[in-house]
Formats: sequence, structure tokens, C-alpha cells
Amino acid sequence: MAVQTIAGTHDSTTTPPFGPAAALSCRECGTRFPLSPVFACEECFGPLEVAYDLPLGDPESLRKRIEAGPTSIWRYAPLLPVPADVTEKPNLHPGWTKLVKADNLARELGITGGLHIKDDSGNPTHSFKDRVVAIALEAARTFGLTTLSCSSTGNLAGAVGAAAARAGFRSCVFIPHDLEQGKVVMAAVYGGELVGIEGSYDDVNRFCSELIGDPIGEGWGFVNVNLRPYYGEGSKTLAYEICEQLGWRIPDNLVIPIASGSQLTKIDKGLRELIKLGLVEDRPYKIYGAQAEGCSPVSAAFKAGHDVVRPVKPDTIAKSLAIGNPADGPYVLDIARRTGGAIEDVNDEQVVDAIKLLARTEGIFAETAGGVTVGVLKKLIETGQLDPAAETVVLNTGDGLKTLDAVAPTTGPTATIRPTLDAFREAGLA
Ligand SMILES: *Cc1c(COP(=O)(O)O)cnc(C)c1O
Repeated sequence: MAVQTIAGTHDSTTTPPFGPAAALSCRECGTRFPLSPVFACEECFGPLEVAYDLPLGDPESLRKRIEAGPTSIWRYAPLLPVPADVTEKPNLHPGWTKLVKADNLARELGITGGLHIKDDSGNPTHSFKDRVVAIALEAARTFGLTTLSCSSTGNLAGAVGAAAARAGFRSCVFIPHDLEQGKVVMAAVYGGELVGIEGSYDDVNRFCSELIGDPIGEGWGFVNVNLRPYYGEGSKTLAYEICEQLGWRIPDNLVIPIASGSQLTKIDKGLRELIKLGLVEDRPYKIYGAQAEGCSPVSAAFKAGHDVVRPVKPDTIAKSLAIGNPADGPYVLDIARRTGGAIEDVNDEQVVDAIKLLARTEGIFAETAGGVTVGVLKKLIETGQLDPAAETVVLNTGDGLKTLDAVAPTTGPTATIRPTLDAFREAGLA
């Protein structure tokens, strides 16, 4: 049922379960709905997102309140659809990951305007997915859902498994059967159920939509399907953290990987909220998207000047980004075009080279998704699409230990020798 008025729905005597969130709102037609576990507009089938009554008060005191908060995403609880006492509930407290000043990589790439890496491999299950799951988990708790689930390209399954274990939920997650061992083990070790589906991620996703529509799915919270509006809000915290860590400033350029496109879309939403709240100065910024060549439907549409994204069948080592039919593709195109950014792709060899480049220059071992993003940053500079004199932030969204197979064939010991100085000399290493 659509609601027109949302003000005054909060009972001031209790802390509202969704904090400053006021309603769900359709991204296409703007119709508002009560906060509930739904994800598509009843009027036009458009995707829903969380709309807020944001605390439009004095920015300086809001900034101070955030700075005095916990060193996790919960420092931004006043801007998220979660109750004020969220820190007291069992969860993994993700976020507040390092923003690394990457001078060595900048020098190598010819960037003079400053380069930072937002390193989200430092999250509890070693990918950015802990952020989105933490918000979806609170929604599941409020809606009384008892099974936490997802369709996953790998990292999400691990993040859901861990969050469910900690919070005392049953979990049952679905992945394509042929994922990297590191991702499969991470998804299974927390003790929930893990189901490999014979098919691609897009098949897994279709299966999950069917499950939700069936009586079997009653009481299930699919973090990225029926809880998707809440899930998406978790990505905004990347925008908040980057700006706060830069001293409450928006950088000139952000380079962000694209799977479904949710993360990129919500980082833009987060930046616009910070401007609206007066927490940062309103200034132009450019958002760049990164895909792997073997799964680059959004990049292809961007280059062809299309508004629609034609689905592809993924074939890339960057499996965490291998979504052939990205739900947020059209919104990503809008954002790249509106901000003056671009979307690029790199091939598997360039992904591996970029993983090694980042490791060699900054001591950060990224998973294939990070290789895609750093590889695209390099390509954007080489092709003149990104100004090296501007300040850039690039995201590393996952940990290289989960995708060892990508680099193992070309990375190993310099030599294997007998334990003698002679042998060391003979190997030419003295
Ligand atoms: C899921 C994921 C992304 C991006 O996902 P979106 O669906 O575009 O939000 C990026 N990097 C890694 C490592 C991921 O697991």
C-alpha cells in the first residue's frame, strides 16, 4: 500500500527501528511505501530505495557526533536505516577501513594530484560485503525474518554466513558451483548451509527470486533480493568514510568496481547526502566504473552510448564481479555520464598485472576485483580519460588470499635451493 505522508510515524518514546529512514521510495516513479521487506514498486515495478528524514541540523555538531562515534560503520548510524542502539546488538561491526595514501603507485602511474586506496579487504570477512550485510541483518531482525540468505558471486556468501553465525540466525546461501576455493571455504566455515548451483550467478539469482515467491521462502531474508533496499544503504558508508578520512572532503575522482552496480550507485547517493547535510562542500566529482573485459556489459553500453545494458555470459577470472545482467546497470550509466566520469574494462592478463602492481608498490594484496579496479585506473590514465593532476580514490574491495589461483601460476619462489651459501651464490642471488 502506498503512503503519501510519512512524517510523524515514529513513536518518540521508543527508538525507531529504522532510525532516520522514513519510507521506501521508487527510484523510477517516486511512489513511497512503508518500510517492509519488498524491493519492487507496486505501481511501475521500479526498484525501491530507502528515503530519509535526515537530521538537517547544524553540520558542525553532526560532524562532531560522528567523529566521537565507534570506529565502524555505526559511527554513521544517524544516516542509516538502523536503530540508534545498533552497536549493542550482536553483529560484526564492519567498516572504518584504512584509506591508504598510495604515493608509490601514484608515481608509477604518473598521478600527481594524489592517490588513495580505500582498502576494504580489512573488513571482518575480508571484503566490502560486510557493510551491506550488516544493514540488511538489522532489517531482517526488525521484520522478524529467521533465515538469512543471498545469491552470491562468493564474497557475499561468506559475509552472510559470518553475520548470521554471530547474530544467531539460520543461514542458507547460494553460489555458482565453480567458484574459487577460498570463497567456497569462507562461505562454508561459519556453519550455515551453502548450496552450489549448477549455473552462472544470473541463474543463481533467478533461482533465489523463485524461492522467495514460494512458500518455502517464508521467513527468509535474502539480503540482496527482498532486503535489497536496506543492503544497498551499506555501500553509502564507503562514501562517508572516504570523505571523513580526507578531512570531510569529496575527492575529484573515484574509481569503483561494478558487479550489480549497487555499490557504485550508493556511493554516489552517499556523496549527495553528505552535500545535502552540509557535512562536505558541494563540488564536482567524477565517478568511474571498472569491469572485467569478460563481463563488461555496462562498459560496453557506456562506450556505445546506450541507455540500456545488454546482458552477457560472463567469462573472467574476476568472479566476484561476474554478473552478466547487472540490476543497477542503467543507474551506473547515468552516474558516470552525469558526473563526467567513464566506465572501462581490462582483460584477465591486465587484472593479474594490476594485482601484482598494487602488491609491489603498496604492499596490498587485492583479490581479482581489486585488480580490475587498479587495472582500469591505469587504463583510464593511459587513454587520457582520467586527469592525473586530479585527486583520485580507488577502491580495493577484497582480499587476494581468496583468489590465489589468479596469481599462483605466475608467482612463486625466486629459487629453491639446498641450505648452503654456495647454493645461494649459484642461484645468482648473492
Ligand atoms: C560484490 C562485490 C563488488 C561490487 O558489487 P556490486 O554488486 O556492484 O555492488 C565489488 N568487489 C567485490 C570484491 C565484491 O565482492
